[in-house]
Amino acid sequence: MTRKLLIFDLDETLVHASPVRLAQAADFICGPYFVYQRPYLHALLMTMQPLYDMAVWSSSSRAYVDAVVAQVFGSEFELKFAWSVEHCVQRVDVRSNGYVYLKDLRKVQGQGYAVEDITILDDSPEKIARQPRNHFRVKPYLGQLDDRELLLVAEELRRRQA
Ligand SMILES: [Mg+2]
Repeated sequence: MTRKLLIFDLDETLVHASPVRLAQAADFICGPYFVYQRPYLHALLMTMQPLYDMAVWSSSSRAYVDAVVAQVFGSEFELKFAWSVEHCVQRVDVRSNGYVYLKDLRKVQGQGYAVEDITILDDSPEKIARQPRNHFRVKPYLGQLDDRELLLVAEELRRRQA
């Protein structure tokens, strides 16, 4: 059986980075940001590690991704890759007149995974617009203490691999 790949977005999916301090203590500081890990994050990674190959793909900067990955995954969880904005495709968004950074999953094929074996966990559907069927959408995390989204995610992803 081929291994399936689970790709994690970072911001508002696994962590929330805020330039202002929230009421609760930050889990770590990264540059100008107070970074808050989403509740049940460690439990999610523990549950997923035996079931999926794991990777990170964020549209943030290389330095930010490296810093957050070191804190969240450390040496405990192996990642196949940790990609940043350099691996995204830049497009002008006509509604906002700003840029949107697309994650085109065809880029992952070079890593040895067929597109149908990839799931990407992300709060932003517009970033996965080219492969919407591979997108596992999560509610955005903004530091809520009672957030339970990752518990639900773990349950559903485990069910899919059962
Ligand atoms: Mg995000």
